[in-house]
Amino acid sequence: MLIDSHCHLDFLKEREIEKAISVGVKGFVIPGIKGYSYIANKLSEKYKEVYYAVGVHPLYIKEAPKSVFETILEVASENPNCIAIGEIGLDFFEKGVDRELQAFYFEKQLEIARKTKKPVIIHLRKGFKEFLDITSNYKDLTYIMHMFSGKLDFAKALLKRFDKVYFSFGAPAIRSNAKKSVEVLKGIPEEIVLVETDSPDLPPEGFNPPNTPSNLPYIAEKIAERIGLEKSYFFDLTLKNTKEAFKCSFQD
Ligand SMILES: [Zn+2]
Repeated sequence: MLIDSHCHLDFLKEREIEKAISVGVKGFVIPGIKGYSYIANKLSEKYKEVYYAVGVHPLYIKEAPKSVFETILEVASENPNCIAIGEIGLDFFEKGVDRELQAFYFEKQLEIARKTKKPVIIHLRKGFKEFLDITSNYKDLTYIMHMFSGKLDFAKALLKRFDKVYFSFGAPAIRSNAKKSVEVLKGIPEEIVLVETDSPDLPPEGFNPPNTPSNLPYIAEKIAERIGLEKSYFFDLTLKNTKEAFKCSFQD
């Protein structure tokens, strides 16, 4: 059994949920992009395996409603199927993004996470220094580094800095040239490793898009292979880690 710690089911056909369950993916976390997703909430009511997060992705700030912070606070406080704040963070990959606005939204949502005692799902591309600056006042939160692409040094710095941090990996970690991710996977404690698909994005090499949570067993097996762990051991390990990271038992 596996949990897909990050999949945008609200952008996929609903039958993909049943399909993934039938191949052993028994839990799903749908991250927020523009705050609250009505579809994510509906899916969480229909499938006991589905949970979601609320948050504004750094590249979707302009598309989020004005009242988004109030909504995030309200849903995270009141809905038991909402188990995290995310995906939030910084994305300075493209030139010309509004860095200050991203930083403002990021910090606002870290505050909500603290208030509601929820873990945060972090989207981070470039902006490592700014990330460290902003989070220096929020070391007490639980961080889930989604599709972590940093170096081992950076991972170690985060480990030292935060009370709790988890690192999540998907298909990019099994690419033929994924040396950096393998180094990180081997260099951090195994109790903080999670797996995800980020579907519909990032299908494994040689797979047709869209990516789906049904690809998670393949991805997780390949990751285990890369770091020299037994498949069933690695599956059980990430299952336990994911439950701890989200403080959620993911009923089966
Ligand atoms: Zn995502």
